Amino acid sequence: MTSVIMGSQEIAPDVTSPDLCTQDAVYGALQVAAEIGRDELIRRINLQNLRNREKLCLVLDLDLTLLHTKPLHKLSPEELTGLCNSTRKKDLRRWKATGVEYLTKLRPYVRKFLREASKLFDMYVYTNGSRDYARIMVGFLDPHGVYFGSRILSKEDSTVKGQKGLDVVPVHQSGVLILDDTENVWARDRGNLVLIKPYDYFAPKEPNGTRSLSEEGTDESGSAGPLSCALRLLKGLHESYFVNYHTFEEELQGILLEDNGIHGEQRQEVNGKSYLRALGSSKRLRVSDECSSLVVTKRQRC
Ligand SMILES: [Mg+2]
Repeated sequence: MTSVIMGSQEIAPDVTSPDLCTQDAVYGALQVAAEIGRDELIRRINLQNLRNREKLCLVLDLDLTLLHTKPLHKLSPEELTGLCNSTRKKDLRRWKATGVEYLTKLRPYVRKFLREASKLFDMYVYTNGSRDYARIMVGFLDPHGVYFGSRILSKEDSTVKGQKGLDVVPVHQSGVLILDDTENVWARDRGNLVLIKPYDYFAPKEPNGTRSLSEEGTDESGSAGPLSCALRLLKGLHESYFVNYHTFEEELQGILLEDNGIHGEQRQEVNGKSYLRALGSSKRLRVSDECSSLVVTKRQRC
């Protein structure tokens, strides 16, 4: 099967799974491809391959979700003093592009978040920044390329200006979760979105009457902070998905390549609850609202 262009990316289906290489499967796939299009078929095949590995897909925003970046020359004297006194200097990265120097602060807990999330999800970075910026940030987050590989999406990949969309992610959306601090850029895929509190480390452009973390020389909590909370939420959703998936696995396998695809939206409730469209509900998730009731036993600030 040939690769196809999805957004600006060349996408090839993962056909390493033996059951996808049988004559019947190939014939069936060709039939379905003719009916639903190759992009959609590839999304379904890739989702099935993820499921075979007990994984789902996770799309991660960069700015204010995993890190915060500010031009060095825009740091206030108070921020510079605070940064000098900060005990978290190891999470600061100084870099330069097109003659401008920047400072990037990694969000507390981000390394553990990526390490743990990578066990349950194949992860993408998706930023509304440029591709060059995305690659620099991924270099800070994943210097050895073990978490994201080439799964980096940027504004150049988007099909609607200013918007992000799962149409450029080559996995069927029923198996994709998104973690982002901004809701309005996901107008087409709100049902898959888990909102996280923005990580405003540096002072905003316009003073808002409060001192920033950089000015205070302090930081968000790591183990009790939003990323830790988000990880617990995502783990809970992953677990719920596969509890439900295995319950209906036989039935789902049967309809994998049918025209209806794998939606199972009415069936994807767990213990009487449904959480988001990918798992069977249109309810949107907000980490700060949901984590304490869903997967966290004691109430935490997120
Ligand atoms: Mg953001």
